[in-house]
Amino acid sequence: MLEKIVIANRGEIALRIVRACRELGIKTVAVHSEADRDLLHVRLADDAVCIGPAPSAESYLNIPAIISAAEVCDAVAIHPGYGFLSENADFAEWVEQSGFTFIGPKPETIRLMGDKITAIESMKAAGVPTVPGSDGPLDDNDERTLQLGRDIGYPVIIKAAGGGGGRGMRVVHTEAALLNAISLTRTEADTAFGNSTVYMEKYLENPRHIEIQVLADEHGQAIYLGERDCSMQRRHQKVVEEAPAPGITPELRAKIGNRCAEACRQIGYRGAGTFEFLYENGEFYFIEMNTRVQVEHPVTELISGVDIVKEQLHIAAGEPLRYTQDDIQLQGHAIECRINAEDPDNFMPSPGQITRLHLPGGPGVRVDSHIYAGYRVPPYYDSMIGKLITYGATRDVAIARMRSALSEIIIEGIKTNAPLQARIMHDPDFIAGGANIHYLEKKLGL
Ligand code: ADP
Repeated sequence: MLEKIVIANRGEIALRIVRACRELGIKTVAVHSEADRDLLHVRLADDAVCIGPAPSAESYLNIPAIISAAEVCDAVAIHPGYGFLSENADFAEWVEQSGFTFIGPKPETIRLMGDKITAIESMKAAGVPTVPGSDGPLDDNDERTLQLGRDIGYPVIIKAAGGGGGRGMRVVHTEAALLNAISLTRTEADTAFGNSTVYMEKYLENPRHIEIQVLADEHGQAIYLGERDCSMQRRHQKVVEEAPAPGITPELRAKIGNRCAEACRQIGYRGAGTFEFLYENGEFYFIEMNTRVQVEHPVTELISGVDIVKEQLHIAAGEPLRYTQDDIQLQGHAIECRINAEDPDNFMPSPGQITRLHLPGGPGVRVDSHIYAGYRVPPYYDSMIGKLITYGATRDVAIARMRSALSEIIIEGIKTNAPLQARIMHDPDFIAGGANIHYLEKKLGL
């Protein structure tokens, strides 16, 4: 097993990784910014190194500082968590060239999946269903582009190859608006991502967001751990996630899951990963692959019994997968509510000191959070301060437990979105299951 690893992240995911390491007897190094000295995982880790000032660009994105910390502390590997450097192929390459193990896929895989066009091309080649579209970048032949729009059929969506985080996309409803929309998206993409390459896809009007979790080792084995439904979104940010996805039959799950596992084998994937799909009228359409652990991984853990973070560590140590596909028997239902330090009415961030705290518990309740009474939520980072996850034999039980847990939670001193989550858990359409990606924004009147 790995002896000692650096956790190049913060907040709840850094704590989640420390916990997995402590269980496995792996020593940890917390690298943190000046604003994060009081983070819970910094206290629990074996070593802590301050790598720079509060702004992420000078700390959590500071590659030389992170590598130096690994050298100074005699670590052998680096876990990037999610966000920050987790999908940065140059970072992964730098880590490996410095003689450390990157806990994730090979740098070339991250690069392949980081460009949406090459990701779609390789998935299509591996038999994964994709959205009908331009099959590659749009060029400057306007006549050909207009013909492509007619062939795909309106509405279409123009997307930046280097896009991410819900940015670099534009929906086009008529041919008259197409060329102008493409040039606007190009300009924006060039400024935001330093890459003006764009492509065209059919715009699906009322899809759900369903994703498949996979695990693959470096010996050519890959399995899937079922799917998650992440359709409850605001501005392309997930708010509630659940597993399994309502209405997905075992046959459909096996069909799409096997395709994803096979794609992993074909591209030589290594580690945990997620295939994101839009799902409409019984069909899956691949949109992108995330080459890291996801925020919503706990719902899959609860229904599969597999500890995804521990498996990442086993895989990074070079071990063969410890599960076969037949070992994976999904049971029950799990729901995750993201708890954000934000005003539930206007979504403005609400950093500050937590003066009083009570977190819920009891059967089927899991809390993944780094907060404690007296903790000061800094204003510099993402507003998510934790995740409340409930599990039950059925979806109804998981929802009932989530309502009860949300009614118990007390976080004083800052505002949180817990009241909004409680509203969602009482919403008849959420309770019915299977709402599409536009549902939450419509319900909120956005
Ligand atoms: P990002 O990397 O920025 O998250 P994605 O490609 O994952 O971009 O798309 C983000 C969101 O944009 C999707 O969850 C969906 O809501 C919307 N979207 C993307 N492509 C399409 C499409 N072809 N049709 C309809 N909606 C889409």
